[in-house]
Amino acid sequence: MRPFPVILSAPSGAGKTTIAHKLLERRADLGYSVSCTTRVQRPGEVDGEDYHFLSRERFEAERDAGAFAEWAEVHGKYYGTLRREVERVLSSGRHCLMDIDVQGARQFAAAFPETVLVFILPPSGEALLKRLTGRGSEDEDRLLLRLRNAKAEIAEVGRYHYVVVNDDLEQAVGRVASIIDAESVRHERVHTLEEQVGALIAQLEQQINGIQRGG
Ligand code: 5GP
Repeated sequence: MRPFPVILSAPSGAGKTTIAHKLLERRADLGYSVSCTTRVQRPGEVDGEDYHFLSRERFEAERDAGAFAEWAEVHGKYYGTLRREVERVLSSGRHCLMDIDVQGARQFAAAFPETVLVFILPPSGEALLKRLTGRGSEDEDRLLLRLRNAKAEIAEVGRYHYVVVNDDLEQAVGRVASIIDAESVRHERVHTLEEQVGALIAQLEQQINGIQRGG
């Protein structure tokens, strides 16, 4: 089976980063594409693991050199997916999990149509606000910006293949895992399918001939 890209999108605060971390901990068949961003590093985040934290100049230089499979300006900061990160994960035989906003997801899926698009919804507006304020990293202006963007992002849910409501974290992780399992047995993704079916048909023909000769 060919490994494929899996995009998780959601308004920030909906819990997609936690879902992505849990999936990566539990599944050896998944790898993570570490994005680049120009936003400031939050407490607890590790450069090169959570993001590659770049200056605006460095980001623009990478972008102009064609290093990004997609990029977007989100909440006034740049975010982008490095082609080499996606290739690193896929060529290791693992599905490539990405945490990308709706604009980036659209760009990426246009370039890589085999991508699976999953949207994570928060259970309510109140829950989203609570998660965003709980982070403690947002001043009021930035909080309002994120909430306004959340409205616009949720309106794009119809472009996604799957929707998962994150009302219960374990259930949400389980649902995304089931989506990946089901997608990996889609007939288009099983690259040995033709050979397998050809061999089965040849075996059945032999059995039919054998029975006919015997009878
Ligand atoms: P945060 O700053 O909360 O980590 O992420 C803010 C938003 O940027 C989220 O919606 C997240 O999905 C998005 N994002 C993170 N990495 C990328 C990326 O590589 N490309 C794009 N287009 N969006 C990203």
